[in-house]
Amino acid sequence: MSNNGNHLRSWEERWHPLREEWVIIAAHRQDRPWNGETLDRSNVHLPGYVDDCYLCPGNLRVSGKRNDNYNQTFVFDNDHPCVGVDAPVEPAKPNSFYRSQSARGIARVVCYSPRHNLTLAELDPAEIENLLKVWQQQYIDLASREDINHVLIFENNGEAVGVSNPHPHCQIYATNFVFKTIETEARASERHLRETGHVLFQDILKAEIDDGRRIICQTDTAIAFIPYFARYAYEVYVAPKETHASVATLGPWELNELANVLKTLLVKLDNLWRMPFPYVMALHQSPTNGELHKGFHFHIEIHPPLRRPNLLKYLAGPEIGGGNFLSDTAPEEKAAELQAQTSVHYKGSALVGGD
Ligand SMILES: [Zn+2]
Ligand SMILES: [Zn+2]
Repeated sequence: MSNNGNHLRSWEERWHPLREEWVIIAAHRQDRPWNGETLDRSNVHLPGYVDDCYLCPGNLRVSGKRNDNYNQTFVFDNDHPCVGVDAPVEPAKPNSFYRSQSARGIARVVCYSPRHNLTLAELDPAEIENLLKVWQQQYIDLASREDINHVLIFENNGEAVGVSNPHPHCQIYATNFVFKTIETEARASERHLRETGHVLFQDILKAEIDDGRRIICQTDTAIAFIPYFARYAYEVYVAPKETHASVATLGPWELNELANVLKTLLVKLDNLWRMPFPYVMALHQSPTNGELHKGFHFHIEIHPPLRRPNLLKYLAGPEIGGGNFLSDTAPEEKAAELQAQTSVHYKGSALVGGD
């Protein structure tokens, strides 16, 4: 066997302080760099209204209920929820050490706009700001309920993440349980505060601002960056700079700037390959189970599944078999690609404000 055959690959592990796990960065593992080919999907024209879309204004849903003739956002209880208020109070007890408990909750759908063909990236900053206000109201309404211990607001965007209806919308799961990532983040944040006196996310923001290479855009009060410990190639965090436990307590100016930063970021993602950029977006907010969760800092995580226009990041041996993410790309390089994009959407909508 040659000496080369004995060489151990030199990879780097980066600590993910919120998830409390290592992320393996093997950036040199990537084959030839992406050569700039773009998928120009701008010729895929969707109509503004589709008569059999269950999310368009005035249309009938399978439940037999009819959508309002809404002209901004529209919120309704999901006709096919994963979690339902009617779940049995006590599930059958397993005949072993296995455990079960009842999972209950409220599932809602939020349509971003009456327009069937306008993605979040294409909405005006003012419309995104209005959506943030809807998220505030939903969080406040649902969090105040006795049996609701967590409110997960998320958007699955694009066929790559399994979305069948392109009408732009997000979903809300308000549940009696707390999702695992949020539980881990809340625990890590509390411990970091106890041990160092610092808010964990503030230390992340300080590290990112001091370094600067991974920041995509920012204003006085809001920021978007690919974190040092990103698991996906184009994973971006969008957050207010001040610590808030949830979106609910953001002031008017913070909402305005957060909307602008989110808009700029989504436009840059779309511009990268001149196609609607698929992603899973989730708001990470403090659990609402009556505990304090000191040090929790609300943020939005955007996880795009694509590494290149036609190449999905497959979860395989390291992730499924071993339980740690292996990233083939350096977050610094991916951030530079996004920084280089303009903040005017390739389809032509102009951006007001944001940097
Ligand atoms: Zn529609
Ligand atoms: Zn998070």
